[in-house]
Amino acid sequence: MARPVPAIVILGNGSLATARKIQQLYPGAMIHGLAERVEGADLAYHEFGATLRELYQQDTPIIALCAAGIVIRTLAPLLLEKGAEPPVLAVAEDGSAVVPLLGGLGGVNVMAREIAAGLEVAAAITTSGELRFGTCLLNPPSGYALADLELGKRFVSDLLAGQSVRIEGAAPWLAQAQLPEDPEAQLSIHVGSAERTPAANELLIYPRSVLVAVNADVAELPNAIRAALHQAKIAVQSVACLLASDLHMTTPALREAALELGVPLRFASDCGGVSELARHTVPEATVVSADTVLAIAVASQPLDLARIGRARGRLAVIGLGPGAAELMVPAVKAELARANDVLGYETYVRMAGPFRDDQVMHCTDNREEMQRARHGFELAAQGRSVVVVSSGDPGVFAMAAAVLEALHESSEPLWHSVDLEILPGVSASLATAAQAGAPLGHDFCVMSLSDNLKPWAIIEKRLDLASQADLALAFYNPISRSRPWQLGRALEIVAQHRTAETPVVLGRDIGRPGQTLRVTTLGQLTPDQVDMRTMVLIGSSTTCVFPRAEGGEWVYTPRWYGDKPTS
Ligand code: SAH
Repeated sequence: MARPVPAIVILGNGSLATARKIQQLYPGAMIHGLAERVEGADLAYHEFGATLRELYQQDTPIIALCAAGIVIRTLAPLLLEKGAEPPVLAVAEDGSAVVPLLGGLGGVNVMAREIAAGLEVAAAITTSGELRFGTCLLNPPSGYALADLELGKRFVSDLLAGQSVRIEGAAPWLAQAQLPEDPEAQLSIHVGSAERTPAANELLIYPRSVLVAVNADVAELPNAIRAALHQAKIAVQSVACLLASDLHMTTPALREAALELGVPLRFASDCGGVSELARHTVPEATVVSADTVLAIAVASQPLDLARIGRARGRLAVIGLGPGAAELMVPAVKAELARANDVLGYETYVRMAGPFRDDQVMHCTDNREEMQRARHGFELAAQGRSVVVVSSGDPGVFAMAAAVLEALHESSEPLWHSVDLEILPGVSASLATAAQAGAPLGHDFCVMSLSDNLKPWAIIEKRLDLASQADLALAFYNPISRSRPWQLGRALEIVAQHRTAETPVVLGRDIGRPGQTLRVTTLGQLTPDQVDMRTMVLIGSSTTCVFPRAEGGEWVYTPRWYGDKPTS
């Protein structure tokens, strides 16, 4: 598995040079700089504490260029919680010291040595076992899993106390270590895929060298897999992945079984039975047990997942929110981090970035929605993780409906097998309303004034009925160079049913640099105050305005209608 890309966090311009040197060691790593104090970072943050804690909780390795104490105090509240423990390092801003703080099992010492080598200093390694043996025995490389951490810790203390050790099985990464080896030793490091109860004097490490090919129709799949492995005397911890026919890509039982067993799920072209599927996909492995529904294949080395069939592709249609990073939902951030491909209108793709070198951006014109949607499915059908970006919410005059339409029109089974998800965002009407107060606090109607995809007559009819119904109105796409007169006509229709004093909110570039918010009235509103980056909110007959202490006005539409309820 690829190691996660670290975040480099700095507090001042003085650390930028060191940060850039460290960045060269980790392709794709971003430098996060404190907005008020750093110029030229890759990403700006406003609050050090919140940023560091968020990165930590997302399991992102952290390289903080500041005092170790600051990092410790900032993360302290999270340390008692179970959950992610990514590597965390403090590096002196001039690059003179590299201190691994947390994430011993996530490889923090390996990172500390890498960074120290890059900066030509010594890493402040304090882990005894690592100092003595030159490797952390409790943190085997990817492709291997430690059986039991607590037993492992005891084992390492025995070793530190002066005992010698022998190695059973293949542990190529230990060839470089300085272990006190002796073929007669009592302590042993055992590497193997066989099911085994770890003895007190052994460090048991499983190679992920086993593949289980399954038929999706098996009842109680996880139990069936456990039973078959037990019968074949193979440890569950040695399973590298489950493999199934790609005809069963959408079967929920497979996904659930993989989740329950904590192993990845891969798919390959159907070729008869499970035994043939395993043999065909991993020819280097030996099928040790097979019946009609389950086959177990064991290789002599850990299996390379990238070479086993393919993953089920994923297509997520996401909403970025209006623009500001704080208004993007965490699920969307996580989705962007896992994406292989990012598709969308160039402005929004840039807004969603920056991206790592391994992520591919596909920027297209705003009008090519259906083509973009189909391209998304083509990429996802290859097993890639694809994100289609919209601003605001993807379901509000944006890509989600286009993506579903493309799927609905398609008879391509691979497209229908894609793991499709729509992730919501804060829509411009809601972001604008929140800044003004609560103008949409009662029933309201959302309309796009663009007649590109619908006849103008239907827009007029809906405007007339919604205004008559006394709904507050939210206009998207209010005006553009190719649609110059429509907004004026729309306001005439609204004015037939509402007084000139009706409050109006104009939000332009809300949540983006240079945002403006303006409160006016229907009588004073003219189309030249509005452009295509503006959201127009028109109040109902009950919408009120009153002054704010700090200047400007609050606008709200009360929750009641008709007679005010007595409270
Ligand atoms: N999916 C988007 C809307 C796309 S339609 C959403 O949910 O917000 C594009 C229109 O949305 C623009 O013409 C403008 O009226 C409005 N809009 C989008 N972002 C905006 C922002 N940051 N500030 C004000 N209006 C915005």
